[in-house]
Amino acid sequence: MAEPNSAKVLKNYVSGRWCASAVDEYLDVCNPSTGAVLAKVPLSGQAEMNQAVSAARSAFDSWRQTPVSERCAPVRRLAELMRANFEPLARQITEEMGKSLPDARAEMKRTIENVDVACGMPTLMQGENVTNCAADIDGEVIRLPIGVFGMIAPFNFPAMVPFWFLPYAIATGNTFVLKCSERVPNTMQAHFELIDQCGFPPGVINLVNGDKRASQALVQHAEVDGISFVGSSVVARQIAETCARTGKRCQALGSAKNYLVVMPDAKLDHVVQNMLTSCLGCAGQRCMAASAIACVGETTYRQVCDQFSAAARKATVGNPLDPDLNDKQLVIGPVISAAAKQRIEDLIQTGVDEGATLLVDGRGAEIAGCEKGNFIGPTVLADVQPGSTVERTEIFGPVVIILKFDSLDEAIATINRHEFGNGASIYTQSGYWARQFKTETHAGMIGINVGIPAPVAYLPFGGMKGSIFADIKGQSKEVVRFFTESKIVTERYWPEEDIID
Ligand code: NAD
Repeated sequence: MAEPNSAKVLKNYVSGRWCASAVDEYLDVCNPSTGAVLAKVPLSGQAEMNQAVSAARSAFDSWRQTPVSERCAPVRRLAELMRANFEPLARQITEEMGKSLPDARAEMKRTIENVDVACGMPTLMQGENVTNCAADIDGEVIRLPIGVFGMIAPFNFPAMVPFWFLPYAIATGNTFVLKCSERVPNTMQAHFELIDQCGFPPGVINLVNGDKRASQALVQHAEVDGISFVGSSVVARQIAETCARTGKRCQALGSAKNYLVVMPDAKLDHVVQNMLTSCLGCAGQRCMAASAIACVGETTYRQVCDQFSAAARKATVGNPLDPDLNDKQLVIGPVISAAAKQRIEDLIQTGVDEGATLLVDGRGAEIAGCEKGNFIGPTVLADVQPGSTVERTEIFGPVVIILKFDSLDEAIATINRHEFGNGASIYTQSGYWARQFKTETHAGMIGINVGIPAPVAYLPFGGMKGSIFADIKGQSKEVVRFFTESKIVTERYWPEEDIID
């Protein structure tokens, strides 16, 4: 904690205005590559959340009655402004989160894609009807906005994750309060500078900066109708429980341990590079990053251990904004904080203590000129047993575990026993094995020869088991159901009397 000094002090955006926070508690927002303080983020409390929710509640009545095509007009302007500011927004993500510029650009593309999809709301929120479902009776399903929605976001996708929800919530006619991650708040400040220029009525979209106290104030607020949460499963479960108790809609997306299964017929020439990007890109801090490789058969296991380790040793670790790294295919940037680095390095030691073989050790990585950065090099642990700490735990760093199985059935059984079930992929040329994998594996997003099966914005995003506490996933037409209430109308009319003169 520190008092504000020369670094930029961030503001909240409430009722169409930037508001200086009334609190006197701030957190330093640091560049994880260099340790430089980028900004000071206020840790807003109950009073500021109350103002934001109250602004959203006041805006709801007229916003919900604004025709859907008119509601989409400022959303479309937002997409245009995001495209016009694409590169600075991507750099902003890299600067405060630490992912490579190509990864940040990919994030911005998906963020804008979600805004584009939400612009189709006149089609997406259409209802259904059956004419003459009984004699002279018609049945109809209409979809209506609900009220005020809150969103609580994680650090690892500072732009994209809030936009799995924000454009859909407002285009359906709800109003919105966002609590972004206190560790990467600059990205949403930059997006709200654009939102401010789009012509949304005051109160339709609001931003409150803060930590878990601001989240809790949002979740517990009586005037909030629903919450979208993305973050760790421990918190997701708590949020879901609070929402259930207080009668709110809730979708809470949580942690992951994503497996890649390599079958004996996999095309290893292509697969190794694909697995490397999945496991080590964004320094392993994607919710869809693979962090466990399950090899079926002894030969496959030995080949993968050798080839993957050799490729991992060659990966570049460094400051993603260093222009000398521009031509590198895969740059592993820092993890988000010194505490995260310590936690990950401790977990690597736990793996070794529990009997794993350390094929590549990334601990103690040092980058010249970035002595205060939170770097960990690629790390590969082999001979890992199902049920061990490194197998059960989401490590969320550039650390990969490799396991050996005698059959696909055994590999699937291990994945299915895991607490989490976000994503899972198989590498094979066999349609039979691929079909078995996609139908029997307990993970919400499946890849077949695709290492990061993160769905495009036209499709839903979400896992299974302990990776999600929700019935409705994020993104696409699916999330429209979360942000609308269906009403079912059954109607009939009797013949008119002759009342016309
Ligand atoms: P986190 O759970 O620490 O924080 C997420 C958000 O919740 C932040 O805004 C934080 O301020 C708030 N928060 C923290 N503790 C809270 C509490 N006790 N009560 C209320 N709010 C609280 O997660 P993180 O470290 O920012 O993000 C990484 C995690 O997010 C990983 O587990 C990753 O797998 C997960 N994630 C999942 C998905 C998905 O689609 N399932 C996507 C992205 C990230």
